[in-house]
Amino acid sequence: MSHPRRVTASPVLQLTGITKTYPTRPPVTALAGVDLTVQMGERLAVVGRSGSGKSTLLNILGLLDECSSGRYELAGSDTSTMSAAERDRLRAERFGFVFQDSHVLGHRTVAENIALKLAITRTPLRERPARITEVLEKVGLDHRREALGRLLSGGERQRVAIARAVVSDPDLLLADEPTGNLDADSSTAVLDVFDLLARRGTTVVVITHDRRIAGWADRALILDGGRLVADHAA
Ligand code: ADP
Ligand code: MG
Repeated sequence: MSHPRRVTASPVLQLTGITKTYPTRPPVTALAGVDLTVQMGERLAVVGRSGSGKSTLLNILGLLDECSSGRYELAGSDTSTMSAAERDRLRAERFGFVFQDSHVLGHRTVAENIALKLAITRTPLRERPARITEVLEKVGLDHRREALGRLLSGGERQRVAIARAVVSDPDLLLADEPTGNLDADSSTAVLDVFDLLARRGTTVVVITHDRRIAGWADRALILDGGRLVADHAA
């Protein structure tokens, strides 16, 4: 989080007529024609009732799943023409993810969990300790640096997941209910971290039920039955 980035007005994400049908019996259409343009550095909240397609949209944006039809362009490149290796590389090096289930490694310390992300992004070794300290201070976990993942509370684990997602200064941050387990103070700290990233050009997409986050975002998208029924300045 220490390098200022050039911010341009070019769309970073462009979705055109995105559909997603899961091949279950009967098939489930989770997204039914989503059009969306997002600029670099925008902060989006995605809201909608359970089953409306929020996580499916996040998975497609994060190249974790492929759409059934439509076009998804990332910084001008059609993602359908990317090789699996290219998608993997983007996910690992340019994206940050915060999932509902935080996926923090229980047998590693807080610092080690975060160091893994810095190893993946090939951050120079000498910079890693300071980057870890900086991000842990931001999420209020510097005192837990050497604690094992499995000994953390739910809220602490969630903050480790957030620290790990943002430490590499991703171009795109995708978060599914990142403040679900957090008290008001911790939620505020997390939103401050997201703001800092967005000001440096990170595009931030957050699924949330939390009205505060919906109000914090630049735009709130409402999904209903796999369709975007509203997209407005929050
Ligand atoms: P949300 O995150 O808004 O709760 P999801 O995107 O998880 O919604 O799900 C949208 C719809 O797609 C739901 O009807 C859900 O049951 C279905 N769905 C999600 N994932 C799968 C899957 N892997 N296989 C089959 N159906 C799925
Ligand atoms: Mg979901």
